Amino acid sequence: MKVLITSALPYVNNIPHLGNLIGSVLSADAFARYQRLRGNEVLFVLGTDEYGTTTEVKAREEGLTPRELVDKYFVIHKRIYDWFNTSYDCLGRSTSEANKKIVQDIFSKIYKNGYFIEGEVEQLYSEKSNMFLSDRFVEGECPICHKAGARGDQCDACGNLLDQKDLINPISKFDGTVPILKKTKHLYINLPKLEKELTNWISSVDSNWSFLAKNITSQWLKQGLKERAITRDLKWGIPVPLEGYENKVFYSWFDAPIAYIGITAECIGEKYKDWWLNKDVTLYQFMGKDNVPFHSIMFPSYLIATKEPYVLVNGLDSTAYINYENDKFSKSKEKGVFGNDAIETGISSDTWRYYLYRVRPEDDDTEFLWGDFEAKVNNELVNNFGNFINRVVSLNQKFFNGIKQKSNGELIEKVKPLLDDYFKLMDKSRERDALLKANEISSIGNKYLQDTAPWTLAKTDLIGAGTIIANCIDLFKLLSLVYSPFIPDASKKISESISFNLSDGFLNVFDGIKTGTEIKPIGILFQKLEHKQVEEFKQKFSGIKK
Ligand code: ZN
Repeated sequence: MKVLITSALPYVNNIPHLGNLIGSVLSADAFARYQRLRGNEVLFVLGTDEYGTTTEVKAREEGLTPRELVDKYFVIHKRIYDWFNTSYDCLGRSTSEANKKIVQDIFSKIYKNGYFIEGEVEQLYSEKSNMFLSDRFVEGECPICHKAGARGDQCDACGNLLDQKDLINPISKFDGTVPILKKTKHLYINLPKLEKELTNWISSVDSNWSFLAKNITSQWLKQGLKERAITRDLKWGIPVPLEGYENKVFYSWFDAPIAYIGITAECIGEKYKDWWLNKDVTLYQFMGKDNVPFHSIMFPSYLIATKEPYVLVNGLDSTAYINYENDKFSKSKEKGVFGNDAIETGISSDTWRYYLYRVRPEDDDTEFLWGDFEAKVNNELVNNFGNFINRVVSLNQKFFNGIKQKSNGELIEKVKPLLDDYFKLMDKSRERDALLKANEISSIGNKYLQDTAPWTLAKTDLIGAGTIIANCIDLFKLLSLVYSPFIPDASKKISESISFNLSDGFLNVFDGIKTGTEIKPIGILFQKLEHKQVEEFKQKFSGIKK
């Protein structure tokens, strides 16, 4: 089976925090790793969303061109995804030439099929700079609370959403002049015209969607679909290939979802069609809850409107949010752990990954709490799982010089039914629950080792002790596989110690390890978190200035 997997494209100017990472990138990663282990052909597509006004604003702030800015931030993203061991097949950018070509092509097809309408609006315009001002480029007095410094789209003082035309005494942030109101035309995608076809398609697939994805989509549909502008008066974007639109670009909610296809083309060339225009492909998309409508309504609408046989999403998986110590992550307040911070703590990526999957917000919001992080890592990962593996290896070393004895399969029998549960959960991307299932398997191994105490038995019955230790070693293959989507480094070490090739996957998972195999030493799998150090990190990332 061909399985195509995408992670929501993070906005390039925002450095992802732990919540962003588990919300889409790591969720997609565990699913991709799992699908490969099940023997499927996988393409995992990841990238950055780089167009839009915020890029232009930020570039001006940092004294760079938009291109220089996105180049700078892309490197930061890549470093974080690589450090977190993300197994993407393609990592690309919405600003690539390949994406431009595909966006313009999809646009032309939708246009030809008559799914765009033209509308005229009035917008603030700077005569000095000869340009329309997007919401972020105008400031003025709030028409509601009358505080100064309200932006075109929102007033931070009272929190109300605004229309830039209503600002009192607006000023262009771009050049300091007083803007005028000027008419401009835009293209709108005619979602009402697509509604019937879209809802028919949704009801044929949404039984495969996560609870949140389904709920959010049905709320949108209940409100009725409206036309949505897909063009803007900006320079930083993909040009609209249509007469009369020479000075306009696409709205990023048009080009960003299409960038999944563009990134695939950037990565594997014309072969992208084997994935995006192939009815034998199953598409899974991962995203935070704020991104659901772009994947369940907007993106499928564009593709349906082309009348081309594009692959539409089959499994739509959305997570809720992770809060940070009962508050929100905030870059400006320096509150919370961001991807680059995690790297600098010296805590291993497996350890971070473990906890993030362990508190993955599958239905409701969850919390990142340092105390809970410490407890779960030390009790579950270090004391239960890591300890079991290390004890078995060292007992085998001590009594049998590292040579695996003959097993009788009794431990594997105990855990067999749990693997089916694990598969069912992973198939539905219930990753947190699947991880708990893996922990259950490792606990059974741990309990078996405690109950049978081969270190005592060895004094009177060395062969019996050898069988018990061998039974435990047989479990290593299964454990390395079920943990591999979550903590790939540790899984790799375990599989190497039994000379098992992880890429063989789940196929012969219950076949034991051959008698006589040399079980190689593993070393420390996970470092215990020290309470003092945890307290220091908690203080450091609290956002409270020293
Ligand atoms: Zn206000």
